[in-house]
Amino acid sequence: MRSRYSAHYLKLVDYVVATYHPDCNAEQQREQIAESVSLDWCHLDVISSAMSPQDSSVGFVEFRAQYIENDTLYSMQELSRFIFHDGLWFYRDGTFDDHVQLAPVKIKRNDQCPCQSGKKYKKCCG
Ligand SMILES: [Zn+2]
Repeated sequence: MRSRYSAHYLKLVDYVVATYHPDCNAEQQREQIAESVSLDWCHLDVISSAMSPQDSSVGFVEFRAQYIENDTLYSMQELSRFIFHDGLWFYRDGTFDDHVQLAPVKIKRNDQCPCQSGKKYKKCCG
């Protein structure tokens, strides 16, 4: 899960596509995936993770992530479903509150950067 997030952060579209479960036909969604990957992701909190009590090949991860677009900080929260397949976990799908709904915040250039680097926004992700 974290590796997928890191791939977003590093903008590794191929990796993100490859870690979708085969049933997702991720290749066909490459364009949307690339768009999502191209956002400036800056923070990830894993809220909880759990295995399905009925099926040990199904796992869930709930996380909150933040990204920056046009100097505005957006948050999203998602409950992702992962499927264990051929010895690896693959992303299957997720349920989420629409992106953005946790009050978008306009970031000022001299504000502390939301990625928590401790630097000013203009010297970091800005
Ligand atoms: Zn930053």
